[in-house]
Amino acid sequence: ARGWGIPAVVGAAEVQLERDTVRIGDAVLRAGDEITIDGSTGDVYEGALRIAGSEAPPELSTLLDWADAVSTGHVEVRANADTEGDASHGRRLGARGIGLCRTEHMFLAADRLPIVRRFILSDDEITEAAALAELEEAQTADFETVLEAMDSLPVTVRLLDPPLHEFLPDMLDLVAREARGELDADGQVELAAVRRLHEANPMIGTRGVRLGVVRSGLYEMQVRALCTAAANLFQRGLHPKVEIMIPLVVDAEELRIARSWVTGVLDEIGHPELASNVVTVGAMIETPRAALTAKALAEHADFFSFGTNDLTQMTFAFSRDDVEARLLPAYQAIGILPANPFAELDQEGVGELVRIGCEAARAAKPKIKLGVCGEHAGDPASADFLVRLGVDSVSCSPFRVPLARLGVAQALLSSGRVDVADVDFGLPAIGGESPAAQPAEPAAAPPASTATVTMSFESSEALVADEALLLHVMKVRGYVTSEGFVESIGTDCTTLLTPLVEAGMVRFIEKRGMYGLLPPGQERHQQLLASIA
Ligand code: PEP
Ligand code: MG
Repeated sequence: ARGWGIPAVVGAAEVQLERDTVRIGDAVLRAGDEITIDGSTGDVYEGALRIAGSEAPPELSTLLDWADAVSTGHVEVRANADTEGDASHGRRLGARGIGLCRTEHMFLAADRLPIVRRFILSDDEITEAAALAELEEAQTADFETVLEAMDSLPVTVRLLDPPLHEFLPDMLDLVAREARGELDADGQVELAAVRRLHEANPMIGTRGVRLGVVRSGLYEMQVRALCTAAANLFQRGLHPKVEIMIPLVVDAEELRIARSWVTGVLDEIGHPELASNVVTVGAMIETPRAALTAKALAEHADFFSFGTNDLTQMTFAFSRDDVEARLLPAYQAIGILPANPFAELDQEGVGELVRIGCEAARAAKPKIKLGVCGEHAGDPASADFLVRLGVDSVSCSPFRVPLARLGVAQALLSSGRVDVADVDFGLPAIGGESPAAQPAEPAAAPPASTATVTMSFESSEALVADEALLLHVMKVRGYVTSEGFVESIGTDCTTLLTPLVEAGMVRFIEKRGMYGLLPPGQERHQQLLASIA
């Protein structure tokens, strides 16, 4: 939901659903009642509140450009995206690639699910191969659209991660239908398969690379689809960059085997550019064992990506699907946990494993790329910690990308990984302090745009001082309303600002009744200060 920009309140254990009513404490809502929810705070309001769009002010894009200038060459901010739409959206919001494409989401589409089920249920090689061939065709098309949307930027594609039973019908439902005598022959086959594949703890069962090992045709199909898609794009003159990510690895041998499938497919396709420049292979570090054996894993990996969602689940032994409703609120209230560790990275435990993993990986392979693709990447406090550990990329839901761009830049500066003096902002210096700035023009030769203003203020010293004062208020306070001017200098002087607005020195944002300095105004302010001094 976060990825799609849908506000949601989750883990609200006090919400009771009864047929067509919902009870939250004393409040009762009926089907059709309107509510308003604030996905950031978790507040739910009765009725449809008046809401405002959250259009970003234009200054935000300038600020984010500066943030990117700080981060370029140090940390990439990427988006978690599974479709062409999400990828394009992430790119528009400033993502420099995809850090996690969850391929299971492609399998769940209505036209794919029956093919996946055929594959899972097949008990002979011919049926299995036919289902895989159909899936390969569909996946190739999917991958092409995603890679094209992120052309020239890296795309990390995770091979299938969840347990197979997630693609099958619900066992309780099938059992109930069987008890009512409603299951036909196909239903009976499905129920037998669901029973066969049922696991008591599926999140630590046959999922991730384990699935690839026991049903190896599946991962090979995905790798072939991905490499074919990249080769097709190449032929069309595009520049795909593919990072194949192996999930839930716990042992170097798993990674060695998975890598051999990729090498095998690349040999089969025989596209030299793909093998040497386009396709890399890496491990998702989601288990404590993977973090602790990072040195051995690094031998078979071009990159690591820390999946801090599962790493948190496995480190705490907290079921991601359950504890947020029941356990965490109590633990936070008692003070056992300072924060929800799925929202804010637990630096002492999970963070320590990430640190161990990063250091061991770098010691074994100094050029290995290290990323983070758990939801923590989009949380500024967690990103700050991760940037300090030296990661090369963070990846989060598209809507969180702007915040991550800002947070990463702040972390790079405050941690000392980047010195602001070394950053090329590509902008004229503000206030003439930049080492790259030209020597300031003498005060007697103001830029042409200021001439009209000087005339309208005439040249008496008092009026020039007024102009300097107004500019100075904006320099100090940023965007200022008429009340703001009253607070600062005791009078509403906004009529005096009109000539400055007309001369392009001051910007007036009508919607908000605010005045702010434009670059010529900044310059004029400097000159006036110098002349007054
Ligand atoms: C993770 O575990 O951190 C992760 C990104 O994968 P998923 O949320 O899909 O399990
Ligand atoms: Mg995971």
